Amino acid sequence: MAVLNQYYTGDSDQIGAAEKALIERREALLGPAYRLFYAEPIHFVRGEGAWLFDADGVAYLDAYNNVPCVGHCHPRVVEALSRQAARLNTHTRYLDETVLAYAERLIGTFPPELANVMFTCTGSEANDLALRVARAVTGGKGVIVTANAYHGVSSAVAECSPSLGEHILGDHVRTIAAPDAYCNPNEDTGAIFARAVDSALAEMKASGIAPAALLVDTIFASDGIFAEPAGFLGPAVDAVRKAGGLFIADEVQPGFGRTGSHMWGFERHGLVPDLVTLGKPMGNGHPVAGMVARPELLAEFGKRTRYFNTFSGNTVSSAVGLAVLDVIRDENIRENAGTTGAYLMAGLRNLAAAHPLIGDVRGAGLYIGVELVLDAASKQPASDEAAALVAAMKQRRVLISPAGPNANVLKIRPPLVFSKDNADTFLAAMGEALVELEGGS
Ligand code: PMP
Repeated sequence: MAVLNQYYTGDSDQIGAAEKALIERREALLGPAYRLFYAEPIHFVRGEGAWLFDADGVAYLDAYNNVPCVGHCHPRVVEALSRQAARLNTHTRYLDETVLAYAERLIGTFPPELANVMFTCTGSEANDLALRVARAVTGGKGVIVTANAYHGVSSAVAECSPSLGEHILGDHVRTIAAPDAYCNPNEDTGAIFARAVDSALAEMKASGIAPAALLVDTIFASDGIFAEPAGFLGPAVDAVRKAGGLFIADEVQPGFGRTGSHMWGFERHGLVPDLVTLGKPMGNGHPVAGMVARPELLAEFGKRTRYFNTFSGNTVSSAVGLAVLDVIRDENIRENAGTTGAYLMAGLRNLAAAHPLIGDVRGAGLYIGVELVLDAASKQPASDEAAALVAAMKQRRVLISPAGPNANVLKIRPPLVFSKDNADTFLAAMGEALVELEGGS
């Protein structure tokens, strides 16, 4: 049973009066479906670069939030947002330069086959739209996802998000095991994953369901972060295409340069998807998201229906998106994700050599997973230890979170401006936290 990093009412007597009052108002106003991080929730009031500051001015090193990819409150993004908001903010039903300038720049970061973009406000909407397109062009309904996938909140994508609970899955959805090279080190990850897709396709066929798509997060974040060996996705994508389905690459987590070597996670696998969905880091915190597509698919979709989404691709969102791309280029953000990510990963591997609790350190660029196990041979998940380590890191003012079906993989994915200094701070805190957990001082 996964131990979640969340606040439970009445669980802690260490919460200050001001925070307690905010929690009570929240519970009264927002109802019970929301969750707060940490047994003792944090009240942040300001952000800058890779740092967040609480109401007492205490600085926390942010190694968790991937949305502010170019850093919290980046001045160029803030300036673009306020400048455009003060001039004009309209939707995509008028002629406008900004949305086209943004579309051109964004599409320019993709392989030439992917030459159209449609804008949404959230990653959920982007996946929802991708499923509509896939179903319209294939005539199929079936979707294959990984066993602990998360693809969003709309009814259609929640049905493809087993991490929300198995009960939520749609009748037309089939789950397959994540490509876990740590658990299966002696086998060909790509071949196993493709075999799982083939079985799901056969099972669908037997149930009279035609496939619409294989939908995967190309870094498998909620499944526990699986990035290696790069290229392993190829055979699975071939399998779904052979059966008449499309490949939808969900880039909400790895996209916009996070993996260091490439702008998009699917590029690490040497693939060109049929549809690509984008979100989180796209607006550095402003709600802009989208779907990039092969034009021939949208030609078919557009024949059957029209598309308008009131807020998506509006003038302000487009100006913000453009500023984010400018900063990624001008500040070598992707390159930094590669070099700092490699430095941090090497430091974590040093810690792994000294602490048997760490069974595996993996990932790409600044998307890193640290899997905690009770012993190296059985690889039994150390879920309680992961929760304790996340709490011990918070005590040292560093933010991370557990991930994976057993919540025993530490998810490390800071803003991409994370520096080597930040990595050193992180590693020092992690070293101390591990010693504390092992009963040292
Ligand atoms: N896909 C993936 C892989 C995600 O991680 C998320 C958000 N965590 C989404 C889709 C949904 O994005 P949003 O919350 O913007 O709707």
